[in-house]
Amino acid sequence: MKKSFPKEFAPVSTCFYDSRVPVKFTILGSGSTGNCAYLETDQVRLLIDAGFSGRQIRRRLASIERTPELLNGILITHEHTDHTQGLKTIAAKLNIPVYCNRLTAEAIDSQFQTRLDYRVFATGSSFDIGDVAIDTFSVPHDAYDPVGFLLRTTAGNIGFLTDLGHATQLVVERVRPANYLVLEANYDVHLLQADTRRPWPTKQRIMSRHGHLSNDGAATVAEQIVSDNLKAIFLGHLSQDCNRPELATDTVRKKLSAIGVTHVSVTAAEQHEPLPTLYLGHESPATLSK
Ligand SMILES: [Zn+2]
Ligand SMILES: [Zn+2]
Repeated sequence: MKKSFPKEFAPVSTCFYDSRVPVKFTILGSGSTGNCAYLETDQVRLLIDAGFSGRQIRRRLASIERTPELLNGILITHEHTDHTQGLKTIAAKLNIPVYCNRLTAEAIDSQFQTRLDYRVFATGSSFDIGDVAIDTFSVPHDAYDPVGFLLRTTAGNIGFLTDLGHATQLVVERVRPANYLVLEANYDVHLLQADTRRPWPTKQRIMSRHGHLSNDGAATVAEQIVSDNLKAIFLGHLSQDCNRPELATDTVRKKLSAIGVTHVSVTAAEQHEPLPTLYLGHESPATLSK
């Protein structure tokens, strides 16, 4: 089902933009304690998840010379606070539309006690926000109705796969058209098992088929999804206690090189600072080689 939300999106003047690089993507931060990314096209400016405080989101947008007031919408994968905690200030106070499914909207409402301007989609549906086409699909995770996204822009497709216990066939098929993929690599199995701060039931939840992807799990998903068109994988949602960026990137790189894939860059996103902005179709080696 293709759905459109045209009325909220008066065309935005393009005079602010460099016409040679119309689509920009910045992971503002990703990790177990907060997740938020920014996508800008000729027509729209979107957040994907809002898992930092309003102040943090404002600060991180300012670091790329942007401001929350100019957002056209916020896409939400699921209601966990590491994806939603900024909504109360950013979305509620600035009246920015929040795109999520019905169960996620209900869960956010009961969490924050604030009415937001929801644009509800059915999981599995596709819709447009300005010049971005968004495919939604269900992912196995312990939330009410968690989803992944494939964002299709004129300069390339970005897949979002964070917070999933394993990748179903559906997930793999829906994300395969991605040119850029944000992929969860939450934990290293040995570091999680050795961790003394998490009780066993918590570890079991994390490792379950509705929990989070390990580095090995991410490598397997990368192997299943990789195509000639895939350019870059950004590993996200790394646990600060039970993972290390180099462990995550090494695990995924090794798996890809074992099947002869050398054209895909693998970078770990950071919890505390944005990654360099990616200019879709104009990738600089410096951006992708980390
Ligand atoms: Zn999360
Ligand atoms: Zn979650």
